[in-house]
Amino acid sequence: MNEKGISEKELFAELGSFSNADTNFKKVFSSMCTIPHPVAVKAQQQFSLSNIGDPGLFRGTCEMETEVIKMAAGILNHPDSKSAFGHLTSGGTESNIEAVLHMKNRFSDFSPGSSPDSGSKLNLIVPKTAHFSFEKIANLLGIELKKADIDSSFRVIPESVESLIDKNTIGLIGIAGSTEFGECDPIEQLSEIAVKHNLPLHIDAAFGGFVYPFLNQSQSNYNTKFAFDLPGVTSVSLDPHKMGLSVIPSGILIFKDNSVLSSSLDKIKVKTPYLTSRYQSTLTGTRPGSSVAATYAVMKHLGVEGYQKNVAYCMDLVDHFQKELKKIGLKPCIPPAINIITVAVSSESDKFDKAAAHEKTEKIRSQLLEKYGWNVSATKTIPALRFVLMPHITKEDISELISDLKKELDKKTV
Ligand SMILES: *Cc1c(COP(=O)(O)O)cnc(C)c1O
Repeated sequence: MNEKGISEKELFAELGSFSNADTNFKKVFSSMCTIPHPVAVKAQQQFSLSNIGDPGLFRGTCEMETEVIKMAAGILNHPDSKSAFGHLTSGGTESNIEAVLHMKNRFSDFSPGSSPDSGSKLNLIVPKTAHFSFEKIANLLGIELKKADIDSSFRVIPESVESLIDKNTIGLIGIAGSTEFGECDPIEQLSEIAVKHNLPLHIDAAFGGFVYPFLNQSQSNYNTKFAFDLPGVTSVSLDPHKMGLSVIPSGILIFKDNSVLSSSLDKIKVKTPYLTSRYQSTLTGTRPGSSVAATYAVMKHLGVEGYQKNVAYCMDLVDHFQKELKKIGLKPCIPPAINIITVAVSSESDKFDKAAAHEKTEKIRSQLLEKYGWNVSATKTIPALRFVLMPHITKEDISELISDLKKELDKKTV
């Protein structure tokens, strides 16, 4: 650090050049985040000093947090949104960590004194398509991930999930809006399995939580139940900082009610002698009240209708994307359920050489970035390009991107 500070003018000139090196989302098809709604940004600024880790000092923000949880419970078809229990987090990763931590604690309530079979760890059953945050969770909590098989549309196979359950299983994970494909697992069947085996079922709806509930049935062939209207679902994570149009970082973790945690809450509860509250039972300490205010603001301002419009706009982009693809002789790997499209771009001859197909896909991905500035990602499950059609994208962007993609593909076949 300099001995003497620099002037505000100098400082902001510097910040301006850093900011110019960041994206403005103009050519970004790879991110699940987007430009936040202006009311969210305004509320974020208004509550920049708020810390809900010390709730007694920020009673107003805490009231908003309670209200956000209630609204989220409503989106998730909770039969009694007042009994829903949860809080805001930094996003899907933190929400998932905390949900699984509670599963682990709950497990020991049900098997008191029982240490898992010597040599075998506690385990969590996740679909093969689960987000990489579960790898972190396994490492952090010392549990084993058992990966259930997926079908040809990349949704988990319930029979595979059930066959993996053993006496060391702490819970099940279902996904509503998978990171690579946007697919929703058959949660109704997972719910039945969870009830039958008395296991908690956490739904990772980090992306899909602000999409599936607002889909217009005419634009999608999905009539998906994935939340608290199913008896087996015990918790859900959904991210306002993705399709919720709030600021970064904003995540929501929500439990059906207090009872699904059993005594786990007491186990992670710590005394907080220096704060205005006596106990804290969230994973993190200081938490941004500005994110609570931003999320409250955008949910109140948009309402259900606003989010329906947002999703309809993105699904319209999906239609346009498919039309443009068709013009150049391509189609999505699977009919997109929501606003994520995957497209195989390697040639037929690579069909039997998966590694080569991944390599070719990766090459095209990096060419799109280096030559044209398009940020696109590639999938790991299958060799394909992946496009997330977020609200910052326009139809013109899509047409331009596909024409650049065609140029690259034409070159490859020469
Ligand atoms: C984005 C995502 C996450 C992780 O969320 P972060 O906000 O990046 O921590 C977890 N699960 C799914 C399905 C996601 O799409």
